[in-house]
Order: sequence, then structure tokens, then C-alpha cells
Amino acid sequence: MTTKTVDVLLVGAGAMSTTLGMILKQLDPALKICMVERLDHVARESTDAWNNAGTGHAAYCELNYTPEQPDGSINTTKAFAINTSFEVSLQFWSYLVEQGNLPSPREFINPAPHQSFVWGEKNVEFLRKRYAALSQHPCFKDMEYSEDHAVLREWMPLVMQNRDPSDKVAGTRVRYGSDVNFGALARNLVSNLEQQDGFDLLLGRNVKDLNKNSDGSWDVVLKNNSNGSSETVRSRFVFLGAGGGALPLLQKSAIEEGRGYGGFPVSGMWLVCKRPEIIEQHQAKVYGMAPIGAPPMSVPHLDTRVIDGKKALLFGPFAGFTTKFLKQGSFLDLPLSIRPSNLAPMMSVAMHNMDLTRYLISEVRQSHRSRVESLRNFFPDAKEEDWELSYAGQRVQIIKPGTERAGKLEFGTEVITSADGSLAALLGASPGASTAVSAMLSIVERCFAERMKEESWKQKITELVPSYGQNLTENTELLLQVRKRTLSVLELDRQS
Ligand SMILES: Cc1cc2nc3c(=O)[nH]c(=O)nc-3n(C[C@H](O)[C@H](O)[C@H](O)COP(=O)(O)OP(=O)(O)OC[C@H]3O[C@@H](n4cnc5c(N)ncnc54)[C@H](O)[C@@H]3O)c2cc1C
Repeated sequence: MTTKTVDVLLVGAGAMSTTLGMILKQLDPALKICMVERLDHVARESTDAWNNAGTGHAAYCELNYTPEQPDGSINTTKAFAINTSFEVSLQFWSYLVEQGNLPSPREFINPAPHQSFVWGEKNVEFLRKRYAALSQHPCFKDMEYSEDHAVLREWMPLVMQNRDPSDKVAGTRVRYGSDVNFGALARNLVSNLEQQDGFDLLLGRNVKDLNKNSDGSWDVVLKNNSNGSSETVRSRFVFLGAGGGALPLLQKSAIEEGRGYGGFPVSGMWLVCKRPEIIEQHQAKVYGMAPIGAPPMSVPHLDTRVIDGKKALLFGPFAGFTTKFLKQGSFLDLPLSIRPSNLAPMMSVAMHNMDLTRYLISEVRQSHRSRVESLRNFFPDAKEEDWELSYAGQRVQIIKPGTERAGKLEFGTEVITSADGSLAALLGASPGASTAVSAMLSIVERCFAERMKEESWKQKITELVPSYGQNLTENTELLLQVRKRTLSVLELDRQS
């Protein structure tokens, strides 16, 4: 039984679907959009503030975005891509704040200087080269570098407490880094969408199946969690923004472009500080180097957070392993995702990533004492009793069918669209919510290609994102212009 017909069906109410919903409603307010979420609340999976690190990833402090090459040079490609992609998100949020579609920026984004911190001759040399490679470009022109203990003490007092003055250390800082409460952002986007005609939010509904009709539309079967009843929504376009739940749904869609993909779940944990007087002494996101064998997103960091107006201090993430694809998912998620088409890629990844397996086993077996021991690299005076463990969200890393090997493990995000543009899915979780706007714009380009040719859409999109269609690493005049505006509108230039 088809209960309703819409233009757009968004599966999941996290950072991705809420962003896509808002972009589409801005482009065409007449679109009929339905958002379906299996939980009873919006943004309670990875997007919820306590389930992610809230870093507005701009490559200011994340050392894994600038790997050292075998010849000793620094590869900056990823850093520039992420920096300019985050600038796109900042522009979109600025527009929404200016238009009154989002509340005061303090409710979802706050300044937190982005700093890197390393110790030891070799790492200091790396950071010096990274700084030299990045800071000459306008994207990173405000990055500062120091090896001076006194300067570093001023930037990151907790980190420098009781360090031996002869220790070789170095740090960088970009003052206008940000801490983003992606949960608050998503909930505010949904509140605004709900006030608009033609937007429906269905909570407590689990998408169970989806079938393509001969006219190209999709029938999406939902199960109501409270009474077990089923309903079908027909839509011309479907977005699988289900986070870890996107892979099983992509498999159910049976689109050719989704064949062979698998997923490898990695969970995360934080140490959360319980002492307000310690929390008050730190005001930054301080990123270090990833341990050997660790997946790139496991770079340890000591992080100021601002969650619902309250300051917090987190250290982590520590990785963990479960077979669930969602924090509130099922242990059968991983086994049920194994299909004949992805068996070879999954086996190949298992065989070629022993370092990762070893790393995960060692992480899972860590005691509270050894986790606090890792924290002491960043905060030498940390005491076990001042910190407690908290569980973060799930990240399902992409296992991609490969050419050289049967399968490859990817740590990024990937947008998959059907050839006819009637379905799109987002897999993976890094750099994550920070780059949601660019990722969702790429879906609009691929799946609404005809509408993007309309003058009204072209004009509107440059209102939403003034740099749309421009390369901000090349057009540096525009970069400086849009950055000036976003830092001011989102109040990231205020001293925190
Ligand atoms: C430990 C950790 C740290 C991170 N740190 C950062 C960071 O610092 N910066 C950053 O930018 N990103 C970070 N991320 C990534 C970021 O959290 C994610 O990329 C982002 O939240 C993903 O949003 P989403 O909407 O795709 O998924 P989610 O927020 O997981 O939302 C998906 C929604 O779909 C729903 N759903 C699933 N299956 C179904 C179904 N069958 N039917 C209906 N609904 C369904 C779920 O209940 C959920 O609400 C981090 C992630 C983790 C886990």
C-alpha cells in the first residue's frame, strides 16, 4: 500500500540528510520532501555531539591530511581539498544564519583554536616542514609555528605543564579553528524544514526495503517501530543518508554502482574530563600523530568541546571493534552485509590489513590506566580519577571493490549515485560532517542535473555558496573575501 508520493525521500536524520534537505528546499521550496528516521529523535547516531569529535575539519591541525612522502616532502593535496571544502560548509551556514534559518552561531559552532603538537626530533622536523609547505598559501596564511616552550605554554597550558625544558617539542596554531555541535546543527535544520510546506519528518520508522518501479521512481517500505505496521512511500529520488545503515540499504536497492562494496565498522571511545577546573584551563583542539598501524582517523587529540552551551574536555578517540554498523544497531549488521559480490573484496581487506587488526585488538584490550597513560603524552599531569570513558559513534569504513587487489579499505567518504540519478548513497565517515555541504552539492549536481541548468537554481546556489564553481585554492582573492565573511558571521574571529 503506497501511503504517500513525494519528490524526495531522505533516509536518516543525521548531518547528511538534513543538509541535503535544506539545500533542496532552498533551491526549490515547492519540492515535497519526506525524511524517515528509525530512532525517535533527530541526529542521535554519529551526528550527535557526544558521538563525534566536533572538529570543523579544515586541515589546520590534523597531521594525517599531510603525509610525508618517501622523498621527505609533504603532500598537501588532501589538506587543500579539505580546507576549501570546509569553507563551502561555512558559507552555507553563514547564509542560513543571515537569513534566520539557523539560530545564533553559538548554538552550533564555537571558536576553538586548532593546534598540532609533536615531540621528538623527527616529528618536530615533520611539523616544521608541514608548516613551511602550508603557511605560504592564503588558505593557511594565519598558521603560527613555535618550538619555544614559553610560547607553547601560552597556547596549550595543560599540554606543557611539567614538561622537561630540554624536551624537543613543537606546535602550530590557527586561532579561528572551530568546534561544531553537528547534532545541534542538524536539529536546527530540521526545525526550520518542519516549518516549511511540503516537508514531512517520520520518526520511529525503519526503512526495510526499496524497489524500483518501471517509471524510474522508488517504492520505499517503512516499518513503524511502535506498532509494527508497514507503509510504502513512493519517491522520484531517494537519498540513503543512513550513516552506517546506508550500506545494507544500498545493497537492497541492487543498483549496479553499489555492487561489491562492503563495510568495516570501527567504534570510538573518549576519555571525558570530570573536573571543571581542568576543563577551564584548556581552550583548543590539540592534535598529535597517529600511532603506527592506527587508522588515520585515530589521531589522538585533546579537545575543547562546547555542547549545548557547556564546555567539556575530551581525549581520544580510542578505537574499538563491534560488528554493529550503527551505535544503536544490531550485532548481525556485519555478517548480514556479506554477499557473494563483496566476499572477495572483504577477504582481501582482512588479509592485507593485519596492522589495523593488531592495532584494534590492542586498543580494545586497553585498561583505564593505559588509556590515561596515553593521555599523559598530551597532559602529563592527568590523574586516572579525573577521567571517565564514554562511547562515541560508529564509523563504517568503506571496503571498495578494487582492480589491483580484490578489495581496498578506504578511510574517506564516497558518494554513490545510480546512473539515472534516482538514488544516491553516502558511505564512509571521514572527514565527515564538516564536508557535508560539498558532498551534498555533488549529489545535487549528479541527481538534479537538469534542474541545475535552470537560471533560478544557478542564481540561488551562488547565494547559498558564493564560491560555488570556483576553485578557492586558485582564486585566493575570493577565498580571502569569503573567509572574512564566514569568520565574522559565524563569530569565529571572536576571542574564545
Ligand atoms: C568517533 C567519531 C568521531 C568523529 N569526528 C568527527 C569530527 O571531528 N568532525 C567531523 O566533521 N566528523 C566527524 N565524525 C564523522 C561524522 O560524525 C559523520 O560523518 C556524520 O555524523 C555522518 O552523518 P550521517 O548523517 O551520514 O550519519 P548519522 O549521523 O549516523 O545519521 C544516520 C541516521 O540514519 C538513521 N538510519 C540508519 N538506518 C536507517 C534505516 N534503515 N531507516 C531509517 N533510518 C535509518 C540512523 O538512525 C541515523 O540517525 C566522527 C565520527 C565518529 C564516529
